[in-house]
Amino acid sequence: MYKTRIILVMVIILVLGPPLQISANEGPSANYDKVIYLTFDDGPSSTTNTILDILDDNDIKATFFIIGCKIKGNENVIRRIKKEGHSIGLHSYTHKCRKIYSDKEDFIKEMYMTRDALCKITGEKYNVIRFPSGSKGHLNENMLEILHLCNFRTYDWNMSVSDGINYKIPPYRLFREATSKKKKPNTIFMLMHCDQPNKNTCEALQNIIDYYRNDGYTFQAIKDETREFYFPFSKK
Ligand SMILES: [Zn+2]
Repeated sequence: MYKTRIILVMVIILVLGPPLQISANEGPSANYDKVIYLTFDDGPSSTTNTILDILDDNDIKATFFIIGCKIKGNENVIRRIKKEGHSIGLHSYTHKCRKIYSDKEDFIKEMYMTRDALCKITGEKYNVIRFPSGSKGHLNENMLEILHLCNFRTYDWNMSVSDGINYKIPPYRLFREATSKKKKPNTIFMLMHCDQPNKNTCEALQNIIDYYRNDGYTFQAIKDETREFYFPFSKK
């Protein structure tokens, strides 16, 4: 079934000819009001529930990039993310980069698999995606065209904490990573993680929220209409 869909997309590209000219990195305009998109990758897990508690206490919405193979057993977490008004994005099915990036078909197939698994639970089809480890080296104009034909919209980040590299980093350091950039973008896509071991992220989150609220940022969830944000294409 996935193969049929992917082949269809490839055929459309052949018929349409070379990809349309799409400017790289259609980042947010500097004129926008101050907005921060808190994004949590690598869930769902029981830790995701703790993140949801904190977001609920603060009455703010965020975006969760879901790994398909972790959904089973965590269906209630997915239902809660939806019920509480947060956004859901696709973050591959296996998160195994060597496999996902071996060819475009595998990448798209994994996104479809995760979309279908989520749709069975929420009844919705999600189009927002994030490349595992980021799009750098994997996204170019041709790939972007394929993703758009699949109705996918890509979001990398412009600020991050390193809780995906080392979940033991203490909360005060995560806070520092999340806030110490001297010139902060007006629109921030903040990368964080909500995998099972990311307890320290939960510890740091309230302070990070307080910091950005005091700095005049509003918190939003990524929607289909949110302008895409991806790293500049690498030259190769
Ligand atoms: Zn990830």
